[in-house]
Amino acid sequence: MNPATGKRAYLLIVDDTPTNIQLLAEALSTQYKIRFATNGPKALQMADQAEPPDLILLDVMMPGMDGYEVCRKLKENDATRNIPVIFVTAKNEIESQERGFNVGGVDYITKPFDLALVRARVRTHVNLKWRTDLLEQLANLDGLTGIANRRRFNEMLEAEWKRAGRADTPLTLLMMDVDHFKLYNDHYGHGAGDDCLREIADALAAALPRTGDVAARYGGEEFAAILPGCSREGAAAVAERIQSLVAAKVIPHAKSATASNVTVSIGTCTLEPGDPRSHTEVLEAADQALYRAKQEGRNRAYHV
Ligand code: GH3
Ligand code: MG
Ligand code: MG
Repeated sequence: MNPATGKRAYLLIVDDTPTNIQLLAEALSTQYKIRFATNGPKALQMADQAEPPDLILLDVMMPGMDGYEVCRKLKENDATRNIPVIFVTAKNEIESQERGFNVGGVDYITKPFDLALVRARVRTHVNLKWRTDLLEQLANLDGLTGIANRRRFNEMLEAEWKRAGRADTPLTLLMMDVDHFKLYNDHYGHGAGDDCLREIADALAAALPRTGDVAARYGGEEFAAILPGCSREGAAAVAERIQSLVAAKVIPHAKSATASNVTVSIGTCTLEPGDPRSHTEVLEAADQALYRAKQEGRNRAYHV
């Protein structure tokens, strides 16, 4: 039972062989709510629902879309990325296990099933998932990077926008996106991708030393910052500082068409006193500026 919600954990079992589903369901159905899918596309659809599964048990070998592909797609979607995936594989497919971790799986169970082990692994990962969810909710922190999460960002944005209006001071919003990050994940693996995002979050936070500045993970490989009192010139200086701190991390990116190391693109929008735009309009403008920075060649900032 989830201590925060009082609900049983929901497991999605994905396997093209009904007897495998049956065996797993029998071992787990007293403790968990179970649903199943017999192919990849169906699994993706069931995962991307208002009430998503807490954990997915995913068969590697399936006709059509295999388990690796399903996992990759889950990790590419903001709505399903945080659902842990345990791969189900035959014992003799050991060499393929590294591949599963590279696409973002958290663990393996092998066929034929040792049901006691299956139960133990499922319990471990459900508990971890719940703890991460709880941390995010209680602390307004992004579970991966430890900086503010999107919810916190939106709250602070509204508060700072109101404050800027009252105090007649400028307010800058900054949006930032990692360049060619899909290729980074595909080449170095999802775990390395997660490490990279932590480094980027660290650089962003370090570039904003003022109390009152807020650095947040907006979603996926996208970050955002609120800079109260910051003018357009200030925004340009902050963007440069972020980019040089990211460059100083020297994170190799062999597949980037932009540079040999990981780079970021940045868009900012500064609201000057008297500007009638709402906070959502300013955010939208910063996002469009980011789009411009991408269009103009990435690894740069665009300010409006
Ligand atoms: P661009 O330079 O245009 O921004 O290209 P891109 O590849 O960075 O952009 P795209 O939006 O196509 O790909 C973003 C990728 O980021 C897809 C997704 O797999 C990956 N990603 C998003 N969130 C996470 C995460 O939490 N961990 C990891 N490892 N990867 C993530
Ligand atoms: Mg990107
Ligand atoms: Mg993106």
